[in-house]
Amino acid sequence: MSVEEAGAREVLEQFASLRQHQRDGRRSPHKPLLTLLALGRLAETGSSALPWSEAEGRLADLLEEFGPTSRTGRAQSAAYPFTRLRADGVWTLDRDVPMDAVGPLRDGVTGQFEASLEKALRARPDLLDAAARGLVESHFPAAVGPDVLVAVGLDPELLDGVTAGGGDTREQRRRSRAWPTAVIEAWDRQCAFCGFDGAAGGGVVGIEAAHVRWFTQGGPDDLDNGPALCSLHHKLLDRGVLGLDADSAVVVSQRFSARTPAGRRIYDLHGQRLSPRRGTPLPAEQHVAWHTEQVFKGSGLAAA
Ligand SMILES: [Zn+2]
Repeated sequence: MSVEEAGAREVLEQFASLRQHQRDGRRSPHKPLLTLLALGRLAETGSSALPWSEAEGRLADLLEEFGPTSRTGRAQSAAYPFTRLRADGVWTLDRDVPMDAVGPLRDGVTGQFEASLEKALRARPDLLDAAARGLVESHFPAAVGPDVLVAVGLDPELLDGVTAGGGDTREQRRRSRAWPTAVIEAWDRQCAFCGFDGAAGGGVVGIEAAHVRWFTQGGPDDLDNGPALCSLHHKLLDRGVLGLDADSAVVVSQRFSARTPAGRRIYDLHGQRLSPRRGTPLPAEQHVAWHTEQVFKGSGLAAA
């Protein structure tokens, strides 16, 4: 292995260690989102230096959009990764500030990647892409990853690249190749929410198997962890705009809004119960509970 390769491996391993902060199935996208925001800034400006005055709003927006619903205030939610990422050896602040304290940050504090890391990332744009890809792929499902990259100012197409060697040295869970097909067949090749059943030639088009509990968050490739959904409803489920209740009925978030009749048709799904054909299990209670807790945004519409 060349010196350069060894250096690249080390950089990616530092970011990979951020993936371990997941407990009891609770999502903690705070540090990964700050890291992605700084990577986006580095790609755009040549420096990851991020003043708190800017991070406070942008990071809070990212957490609101892509994190679980939280009762913590916006500034406090952003201060948590901004101060704590230092402990992971990848992030520095230009002043010594107590962990989690918002007040001192407002005194003109700037955060930045650790110097040698920043140097390595600046010298190797492919490394920056690989780092961003690794973070997105281990924290978000495929339907959400591109949205996260766009939000932090990175190219969503970098997800199409091949992860550089050394991206993750730990055992990765393997996705079942048979699972998507089995789910789509079990739901009679149609969207469990709207009944869309597009096909082109012999194959379905625009119909996908959706993990209720995300694969990246320990969700199993089991038939009771996913209905088949059309691409649109899959996206809305993963973004927490649609969910399920304990009776396997669709819930539409109050946060959803749309102007046109086509957009507003989403409201019609509210309260509609899933009815798979005989032998196909409904999404399991524990997976639905995970989604409600960790992904679904705010509360559902008032009873229809
Ligand atoms: Zn649909």
